[in-house]
Parts: sequence; C-alpha cells; structure tokens
Amino acid sequence: MNPKPILVVVGSSNTDLVVSVTQIPAPGQTVLGGALQTIPGGKGANQAVAAARLGGGVRFVARLGDDAYGALAREGFAREGLDTRFVFATPGVASGVALIAVDEKTGENSIVVAPGANACLSADDIALAAARAAFDGAAAVLVSLEIPDDAVFAAVEAGHARGIPVILNPAPARPLPAELLQKVTILTPNQSELTLLGGSEALLRAGVATLVTTLGAEGARLEQLGEVPQTFAAPAVTAVDTVAAGDCFTGALAVELAQGASLPDAIRFACAAAALKVTRPGAQPGLPYRAEVVARYN
Ligand code: ATP
Repeated sequence: MNPKPILVVVGSSNTDLVVSVTQIPAPGQTVLGGALQTIPGGKGANQAVAAARLGGGVRFVARLGDDAYGALAREGFAREGLDTRFVFATPGVASGVALIAVDEKTGENSIVVAPGANACLSADDIALAAARAAFDGAAAVLVSLEIPDDAVFAAVEAGHARGIPVILNPAPARPLPAELLQKVTILTPNQSELTLLGGSEALLRAGVATLVTTLGAEGARLEQLGEVPQTFAAPAVTAVDTVAAGDCFTGALAVELAQGASLPDAIRFACAAAALKVTRPGAQPGLPYRAEVVARYN
C-alpha cells in the first residue's frame, strides 16, 4: 500500500441522540421510548472517520460549540486519529445535535437537526485552515452540504485552485450553481439528491466531470459526458442500519482514489465498504476498517 494519502474533509459534526419508540409521536403527542443512545454522527465527521478507518490521513475542517457534546466529539476524533488542528470552536454556541426517534418495528425514523456550530463554519475558516497548510500535500478534498454555502464554495475553490481533486457529496441536496459544479471533480448524490439536482444529464452538461450516484442496495452508477453509464452491484448483505452508508461510500471512494486506484476499482471498494456499514448499527460506530473490507471482499 502507498503511504497514507492526505485527505481534507470539510463538513459537519453532530451528536446523534437516538431513542427507539413503538410509535413516532404525532404533533402534540408524547411517547415513552427506550434508552437514550448518544452516537457520534454528522455527514462531515462520518466521512472523515470513514476515510481514516479505511487508511487515509485525514485533516478535518469543521466547527464545534464549546459544550460537552463538542468536547465528546473532539475526543472521538482524536481516538480515530483525525488531525483536529482545523476543528474550530465557537464560544457560546451549541455543537450540532440530531434528535432521532426510530420506530422499533419499521425502522422508520423522524429526525430534527439543530445545526448549532456547523452553521458558523465560514469561508474565513477555510482561508484560515488553508493559511495553516491544511491543503498542502493533499490528494483529495471531500466536501458535504450540512454547512453554509460560503464554506462549501471556499472549500471547493481551495481544492480546485491547488489542482487537488474535489469530491462533493451533495447531501442534504440544495441547488448548486454551474460555477461551483464545474470545479467539482466527482459528485456523489444518492438517487433522491440526483433528482433534486435536476438529473444526470443536466449535471453533466452543467460541467460535473464525473457523476457517481449511489443506488442503495443496487450499488452505484458511474456517468461521464459522452461515456456509456456503468453500474456497479452492491454485495448482497442483510441491512440492519443504512445510516451513514452514503458517507461511508464517499469516504471510501476518496481514499481509494487518493491511493491511486482507478475510478471503477475505487467504486467497487466503496460499495464493499458501504455494504459492511449497513450490516452494523450506528453512524460512526458502524463504519468499517480497511482490514475488514479487504478480508471480506478481496
Ligand atoms: P444514507 O443517507 O443512509 O447514508 P444514502 O441514501 O446517502 O445513505 P444509499 O444510496 O442509500 O446512500 O447507499 C450508499 C451506498 O451504500 C450504496 O451505493 C451501496 O453501496 C451501499 N448500500 C446501501 N444500502 C445497501 C444494502 N441494502 N445492501 C448493500 N449495500 C448497500
């Protein structure tokens, strides 16, 4: 294996507060649930941890509050071996939290996200991280959308200006200008995000170089302008929790490409890693390590 490739991951960190219930409460209703589970999550942090467990040297650029959840998240990042020099703290602001009720019979969930400090990540933060050499020597920049537009644009621009491949996971989806899409090397929507963004053809025509759409249990599809789309099957598994499957996929894809793998090989590896994720509960706790993916699928 090549030496650890450096990846810059820019995005959110949340603490997931999860309670299983016999019934998701209707407006005005109170229900008693099971034991509270406190689970590290957030798309940016999930992708950062996935990439680190799969062999990347990860510099995480994010914002936490100055509260207990922020301290817990920072400790977790350190345990995972992330470079936390660019995880900034916002005084007087709560860290991001997701309140999740899960129906214990159907697995359906109902989620409220309080973005907290994630909403404070700014273009200035990206500039500060860049001034402190966050992007130096990086093999890929990975960005997701649970942070403000100006931070997203600055992160994409920081990678693009340095000639570093930029992978944008457009989740949660919102309209993105062509000016931004033209600077993205690989866009990784899921199917509903793809629809919300106007579909494959529109995105490729807007200037996305490579589109890798995740298809849940069906795997993933690779599309490039003028090329025949290629579909990659997902390994057959019994899914117990698909939370963070997309984050695992994107983190894995970035690591493999940074290691020098071809795009098809990187997509195959990402499908294998994400398939392992869905067999395990929890966002970050369920993310696989490289040795597990290799042992199971190579
Ligand atoms: P999430 O929002 O739950 O994190 P997502 O909607 O962003 O996920 P999906 O397309 O559902 O993304 O899944 C991402 C990847 O995870 C898929 O491309 C596939 O490789 C893998 N995956 C998801 N569900 C399954 C499954 N049931 N069996 C095998 N692989 C799966």
